Amino acid sequence: MARTKYIFVLGGVASSLGKGIISSSLAKLLQSRGFSVTIQKLDPYINVDPGTLNPYEHGECYVTEDGAETDLDLGHYERFSNVPTSQANNVTTGRIYQTVIEKERRGDYLGHTVQVIPHITDEIKRRIKLLGKTGKYDFVITEIGGTVGDIESLPYIESVRQLRWEMGRDCSVIHLTLVPYLAAAGELKTKPTQHSVKTLLESGVQPDIIVCRTERHLSESLKNKIAKFCNVEPSSVIESIDAKSIYEVPILMREENLDAEVLRKTMMPLDSQPDLGKWEDFLYKLSHPTTEVNVALVGKYVELKDAYKSISESFVHAGAANECKVNVKMIHAEKITDENANSILKDFDGVLVAPGFGERGIEGKISAIRYVRENNIPFLGICLGMQCAVIEFARNKLGYKSAHSMEMNPDTKYPVIDLMEEQKKIKGMGGTMRLGAYPCKVKKNSIAFKCYQTINVSERHRHRYEFNNEYLSEFEQAGMKATGVNPKENLVEIVELKEHPWFVGVQFHPEYQSTVAKPHPIFVNFISATLKYKNEK
Ligand code: GLN
Repeated sequence: MARTKYIFVLGGVASSLGKGIISSSLAKLLQSRGFSVTIQKLDPYINVDPGTLNPYEHGECYVTEDGAETDLDLGHYERFSNVPTSQANNVTTGRIYQTVIEKERRGDYLGHTVQVIPHITDEIKRRIKLLGKTGKYDFVITEIGGTVGDIESLPYIESVRQLRWEMGRDCSVIHLTLVPYLAAAGELKTKPTQHSVKTLLESGVQPDIIVCRTERHLSESLKNKIAKFCNVEPSSVIESIDAKSIYEVPILMREENLDAEVLRKTMMPLDSQPDLGKWEDFLYKLSHPTTEVNVALVGKYVELKDAYKSISESFVHAGAANECKVNVKMIHAEKITDENANSILKDFDGVLVAPGFGERGIEGKISAIRYVRENNIPFLGICLGMQCAVIEFARNKLGYKSAHSMEMNPDTKYPVIDLMEEQKKIKGMGGTMRLGAYPCKVKKNSIAFKCYQTINVSERHRHRYEFNNEYLSEFEQAGMKATGVNPKENLVEIVELKEHPWFVGVQFHPEYQSTVAKPHPIFVNFISATLKYKNEK
């Protein structure tokens, strides 16, 4: 295989311009020409990983197969490229420093002063090259978090500068900027982009390609102006106009020749054509739904759309698979009670109770589940959502009124959800949960089997508590069945209700594995259950 090419994606002018989506779209385009691609995110914060971060800080924490707790952009990478990521795909400043400091303590630096340059930058460069060294990829796309000019991104930009020297045409830099439209002047403005490129140049990095996020089309003359002021070829100024859906961005980038520019800059063959046939089929279904359903997402981060990112995207994939528009409405768990559940939930065709940690909103989640259980409304509970379904069943069907999870009430008389054995001795918070992919055996004659069409599956986890098997036979006798179990440890992974058309609780997170190419079967089946419910109601 030819040498791996490294593409850096940096951002300027403002945050939230969509570096993750541009990186994912580029990966998709290169992949569609037959290249193998992986994407990596470098995050300039000091946390060792985002696992300890509140969703208010950076949105959802995404979990990889190998159990890394990562930035939510990795979810986009997987959803677009359908290639699993790993611990190596997300590196933070905290992890870089941790490695360097451990080396220093071991004496690896042989008495030298340990400094940002070269020791921190060497470690950053090592982490960047690690994925290329696997020999699996033609391209490694490295997205650098933050905005050019931030103090904390400086060591990363310096590493990019050094790598350009070392790698020459084996690497290329894309700078994503904003070209704002000033309504009062009736004009698009290029100055912020010019300044941002200047800031980058102060660190010694000249971008090869400039991607301009904009709400209006850029004229040729405006592109030429950006090219002239920012030292790039006019063909390297790429327009990235606001799109209705993030999934349209690969198509827009293909029209703008982003992939061809990257191939040209890195001296790669240009004779292939991107084949996005399947992607376009998906987009067609997405924009031509034949029907729609309303689903409630009961959680506690209602005002924060990134907190349940993978779940919302899974609904997009599952909706397209059913040629159905899924209207997801976030419902504040804290607002739901047994008394008002009917008025809040009666118009929905399905209810999903979200994952989470801690006490807040628990009673509302339990009331919501009681309502959907008693009224035969399709229900999907994920992780904490599944645990709440178990608590609700214990309280209202088994009559254990004070049943609870040990997480919320360590003194409960009926700990139907208990701390996992392996978790009992753990004190630290970072990276210590049951994380990543574990096998699950699915029982035939279950909804889960209908979804998967196979008995051996693997799903990703992120939790400390589990179904307490001491209660299993009581639950099963009363109608709540364990239809998926971890074969080695016997942990309950899926619960279902015998007397309910579609009631599924999963201890794992199916949303982490849903991609455009492979919508998750549980979500797909859940949406078809909501459609059925809607049509029969
Ligand atoms: N807090 C629960 C546990 O740790 C559920 C976690 C989750 O929903 N991801 O087991």
